[in-house]
Amino acid sequence: MAHSPERPKLYVCNACQTVHAGTVVEHTESGHRYEPPDGCGACDGSEFTLLEDWAHHHG
Ligand SMILES: [Zn+2]
Repeated sequence: MAHSPERPKLYVCNACQTVHAGTVVEHTESGHRYEPPDGCGACDGSEFTLLEDWAHHHG
């Protein structure tokens, strides 16, 4: 396998803790750059924490 698919970054809504896949905002040679979604589909919140960081804080 020369090409392995890149995992999207995941974000956790600070308000309701729903996990969202990040939005691709830029394509670079090393992959994609992700940003949190504009708003949470579940609670309309707009504050997100990167899942990796979330696990860090709540682990
Ligand atoms: Zn939410």
